[in-house]
Amino acid sequence: MQYYSRQYNIDYLFSALLSQLFINNEWHESVSGRKIPVRNPATGELLCEVEEADAEDIDKAVKSARAAFELGSPWRSMDASDRGRLLNKLADLVERDHLLLATLEALDSGKVFLVAFFVDLVATIKTLRYYAGWADKIHGKTIPIDGDYFTYTRHEPIGVCGQIIPWNFPVMMFSWKIAPALCSGNTVVIKPAEQTPLTALHMAALIKEAGFPPGVVNVVPGYGPTAGSAISHHMDIDKVAFSGSTAVGKLIQRAAGDTNLKRVTLELGGKNPIIVFADCDLEQAVETGPQRAVLSTRASAAWPGPGWFVEAPIYETFVRRSVEEGPLQGPGRPADARGGPGTTGTGMIDRKQFDKILELVESGQREGATLECGGAPWGQQGLYIQPTVFSNVTDDMRIAKEEIFGPVQQIMCFSSVEEVVTRANATHYGLAAGLFTSDIDKAFTVSAALQAGVVWVNCYNAMSVMCPFGGFKMSGNGRELGEYALQEYTEIKAITIKISKKNS
Ligand code: NAD
Repeated sequence: MQYYSRQYNIDYLFSALLSQLFINNEWHESVSGRKIPVRNPATGELLCEVEEADAEDIDKAVKSARAAFELGSPWRSMDASDRGRLLNKLADLVERDHLLLATLEALDSGKVFLVAFFVDLVATIKTLRYYAGWADKIHGKTIPIDGDYFTYTRHEPIGVCGQIIPWNFPVMMFSWKIAPALCSGNTVVIKPAEQTPLTALHMAALIKEAGFPPGVVNVVPGYGPTAGSAISHHMDIDKVAFSGSTAVGKLIQRAAGDTNLKRVTLELGGKNPIIVFADCDLEQAVETGPQRAVLSTRASAAWPGPGWFVEAPIYETFVRRSVEEGPLQGPGRPADARGGPGTTGTGMIDRKQFDKILELVESGQREGATLECGGAPWGQQGLYIQPTVFSNVTDDMRIAKEEIFGPVQQIMCFSSVEEVVTRANATHYGLAAGLFTSDIDKAFTVSAALQAGVVWVNCYNAMSVMCPFGGFKMSGNGRELGEYALQEYTEIKAITIKISKKNS
């Protein structure tokens, strides 16, 4: 089919967008007949409408996932190595459609095309291949219990996994969710964010093409309070994996408690501290700043904007260099979501997020922080915000405490290691942290003291599929990626068999 070939033009892409619910390897209209308008956030242009799943559609998807998980089904009786082969086949198809998927991702999420191509899609392929390799390496132990018994453990799939993902990494998060679930033998009902369903639907087509049995993966775009809530409350879903805001994470955990106590893993918000010691390579730290605030924060990387703690002797220089550095990153060409070099800025996903960030910027000014640059909308089209730098920020200000999912850098001053560790940990969040120092002892001491699931030293955002990712405290529970993620998708069963006489 032309849609899947490398040779396509943008008009054809628009005419062939997949827009239905993917259940049991078939395309379905929604029961309600309702549709979700999908827009390009860089221009506001309507790209297409996709079918909107609600509770009845979720129920259909769960039934299909349950049937695929029945004992004796093709999926349950498949060799583990064949599950790995299917994931590798899916990775091959994503590689074949790399350009198309990156284009879709840029159009749908407003993400810079080159970032979608070189970051998100590359990470997606790596994730699929990494977990393909794990499929036949998940195994239990034999355990020498007391008495005449033989005991062993099996690491079994949990069952039907509901998965709910946000808009900031639509295709990459899709792979983070499905790959560990499938390599360990689960079945999946996954809901992409209502703002960004298009790459997930294309992945659904590739899943079918790769040869996954019907019902193993079901893709159901819908809104959170309806489709998302139906997943978190469903009595026949065994586990829910959620990435998104802390507020919704609480609802997901509560829904599990109110229903069948399904297993819950949560990847939530953060207010990530970055500590810059006076002994660091200042230029290295400064370059990380605008890169995070402008490029990374919204869409290129999109772990929420950090709070910067900078040691007193270099504070003024760091602020000045951050302001100088910021505009170098450039606003990009707002209308050109497929932009090449020079298009580095990315717009906000929707008006709600745009307004929220500008409101937080206003609060910073009201509460007495110094606005060094930016702080206003950017350009005539799309939802862009100028790269914004605040200095003289104190810990009680909202911009210091609240997650800002946008290009806003807040710079605070500190004087001692003890002080900065206490202040950096004085948050309900604990997703990630960074520190810059040339003192190895300080690097070990401070990284051990920070309450965060991930600590980067002399770097930031150095993510990899092999390395676990997840938060302490209200940034969530459980871990994604790496070998650790497999624990979140398996139940351990201990089997003990009476034997006539044991021998050592
Ligand atoms: P959000 O929580 O509003 O939405 C995320 C997903 O949850 C969407 O698919 C949405 O439809 C769904 N949802 C919304 N309400 C729901 C409900 N009542 N029940 C079930 N599902 C519901 O978050 P957002 O604003 O779209 O995303 C940004 C947030 O995600 C930020 O707070 C960010 O920090 C967080 N995030 C965290 C990670 C991480 O790995 N820790 C990764 C990406 C995003």
